[in-house]
Amino acid sequence: MFHFDNSYARLPDRFYASVYPEPVEGPKLIRFNATLARQLGIEADMSDPDRVAATLSGNVVPQGAAPLAMAYAGHQFGNFVSQLGDGRAILLGEVIDDHGIRRDIQLKGAGPTPFSRRGDGRAALGPVLREYIVSEAMAALGIPATRALAAVATGEQVFRETVEQGAVFVRVAASHVRVGTFQFFAARGDNDGIRALADYVIERHYPELETAENPYAALLEAVAFRQADLIARWLGVGFIHGVMNTDNMTISGETIDFGPCAFLDEYHQMKVFSSIDQGGRYAYRNQPGIGQWNIARLAECLVPVIDPAQDRAVDAANEVLKAFGERFQAQWISVFRAKLGLKTQADGDGELVQRLLSVMQEAEADFTLVFRGLADAAEGRDERFLAQFADPSGAAEWLALWRERLAEEADGDAGRSAAMRAVNPAVIPRNHRIQEAISAANYGDFSFFERLLEALEKPFEERPQFADYMTPPTPEERVTRTFCGT
Ligand code: AMP
Ligand code: MG
Repeated sequence: MFHFDNSYARLPDRFYASVYPEPVEGPKLIRFNATLARQLGIEADMSDPDRVAATLSGNVVPQGAAPLAMAYAGHQFGNFVSQLGDGRAILLGEVIDDHGIRRDIQLKGAGPTPFSRRGDGRAALGPVLREYIVSEAMAALGIPATRALAAVATGEQVFRETVEQGAVFVRVAASHVRVGTFQFFAARGDNDGIRALADYVIERHYPELETAENPYAALLEAVAFRQADLIARWLGVGFIHGVMNTDNMTISGETIDFGPCAFLDEYHQMKVFSSIDQGGRYAYRNQPGIGQWNIARLAECLVPVIDPAQDRAVDAANEVLKAFGERFQAQWISVFRAKLGLKTQADGDGELVQRLLSVMQEAEADFTLVFRGLADAAEGRDERFLAQFADPSGAAEWLALWRERLAEEADGDAGRSAAMRAVNPAVIPRNHRIQEAISAANYGDFSFFERLLEALEKPFEERPQFADYMTPPTPEERVTRTFCGT
């Protein structure tokens, strides 16, 4: 089924624990992502769905697999834990996709590992569906993210706050190396481990750095820039990751770990959904600052290998941290310029965006609908935009400023609204729709899950049959809290 080539398993023993998935009672395929499977060169004989389910749940370990749990550490909400590791995820192996990119195939919820601590090694159906929905939505929005290859029901119960149905999520990632993977070795003073890991990720994710003057300093900068770019993209679609611990930040620059994540409905820059984020550490607008904080933790790991002279290494790392801030600012303004339909750059653009955001915050306007409505306004139809504001006077004033700025654009108005619709989605995975899909699935009805996924496949199109996915929740439908569900 898979054409495995397992590079991580060839790293030194202390990088992982070899462990087989623990078979489950009654695996049943919930959904298989055939399009992604094709890109990964995976052949699944769908005339035998039981066999496919058995493989994707871990009951049958396919030929060529080298199942393992990766070791990592991490800062969780600012507190360092020197050993986390895959406690309920097992890397089956790696495949090379149709673009020549190496991708991990991982089973999440496949049973206990040496890193499980007191956890059961399992995943509940709800969080599995949530990860499936949001990671595929991110990909359709064009934002780097791990992908969903499949979801399989296990036929077993898992015990969380309540009894839930068990499931396995089959995750595809450019790799599962995290900031926390470096921290694992740094915490042990294992500089050889740091070097081996850095060499591995350079070869896998940043081969162009192999010839850099100082590849490890260059690696730090490259990872920092990918994260800065990623977080700017998140802010552009109103995404709140919710649990940006260093073990949930990839080295590849993909969004990973869709636990308590959520998209904004009404805009507020300090919005938090996650029930465990009481101090608002991972609030919407804190994400770039936290990204930089996490990169600082990566920098601490790399300092010993960047330069034997510590002061020189520290200077190099500090340069990168400063550059992170600048890179983020530049990416953020470019994301929002595009959302406003601006192709050129002018000095006041940042203030123009901020001003809109504060009018939105004041009015508790829907983030997605405001920008989508602005594309109509680019065609002279202001109603949809203005309708997002209970008192439209501030928004109308802002429109006047925006139009003054548009008048400076060299190319004129041609193509503007279409370009705006290509970056301002109409359909996002709104929390109440995810909740609806999960609740129905818990009763055996997967039709909401399927339909939501279909709506999210083309987020930039307004398809009438999916009009109900474009509207914000009613007061009764509002979801104010999201949960990790681990
Ligand atoms: P997460 O909150 O998913 O980022 O996980 C944080 C850490 O807890 C990781 O080391 C996970 O492997 C571990 N973990 C989470 N849920 C479980 C579980 N049900 N069983 C074992 N380990 C878990
Ligand atoms: Mg995690």
